[in-house]
Amino acid sequence: MRWPTPKKNGIDITALGGFSSIIFENFNLNQMKQVRNVSLEFERFTTGNTHTAYIICRQVEAASAQLGIDLANATVAVCGATGDIGSAVCRWLNARTDIPEMLLVARNQERLQNLQAELGRGKIASSLEDAVAQADIVVWVASMPKGVTIDPQILKRPCLMIDGGYPKNLDSHFNAEGIHVLKGGIVEHSLDIDWRIMSIVNMDVPARQLFACFAESMLLEFEKWHTNFSWGRNQITLEKMDLIGQASVRHGFRPLLNLTSAALVSEGS
Ligand code: NDP
Repeated sequence: MRWPTPKKNGIDITALGGFSSIIFENFNLNQMKQVRNVSLEFERFTTGNTHTAYIICRQVEAASAQLGIDLANATVAVCGATGDIGSAVCRWLNARTDIPEMLLVARNQERLQNLQAELGRGKIASSLEDAVAQADIVVWVASMPKGVTIDPQILKRPCLMIDGGYPKNLDSHFNAEGIHVLKGGIVEHSLDIDWRIMSIVNMDVPARQLFACFAESMLLEFEKWHTNFSWGRNQITLEKMDLIGQASVRHGFRPLLNLTSAALVSEGS
């Protein structure tokens, strides 16, 4: 494996997204800053999770409106609710929308109870199947090694599935009438970017679409905020989501929302 060496290459900020925990926690780099002749400066890394959470929340608002799902009457399930992105999404939906019912899905009960206490509401789901069966909108932000298979028969119609997991939380063959799947945490830029990396991860329009976490590092550079804007776990505040959200709009990024493209598909459409 090649270690990221932003200092050596004169790079002020690097986004690692879903790789952050793999690199910093699995390899215990938080304790061990020296990697061969490279001394890691943590302020040069961002997880990119604040921008990712902000974009997913915007996708919830805009895609539900396009599908005619009224948030004021909607049940939203967040799978991976206690995670870094999931908890930020829950905070935002709790404070900024009038969603009446939030279902919190994860495995560790203590963390779920802590989140519920912080939010002052939200139901801890008895199981993933139970939560998705009740939901008009499912936000998928669990760190799962592979996609889960859901029986479409149990789902409401219409149902909006926003899958922000990488790898995807939903099985790639998941497709059913009235169920709308949107790639979560993806932004589009108004100008082409000359790179090949997004073809490797099968973006529909690789020159314009990218992970929101990667876009966060670009935003930090554009704004000259040379700091680890997103770092640690479950510390994403609404204020920071607003800040990065404003920068995102200012620099021409918008949430992926193309209802007619393959990014949002429903059988028969
Ligand atoms: P965290 O590790 O902070 O959180 C993961 C969450 O998933 C926890 O709530 C965990 O709770 C839950 N979880 C894990 N396995 C399961 C399971 N089998 N069933 C239910 N819940 C489960 O992850 P992040 O918030 O940092 O990232 C979440 C996802 O978003 C990842 O897939 C990551 O790759 C992706 N990502 C996407 C980005 C983008 O730009 N689109 C950027 C960054 C990340 P518990 O362990 O208690 O079950």
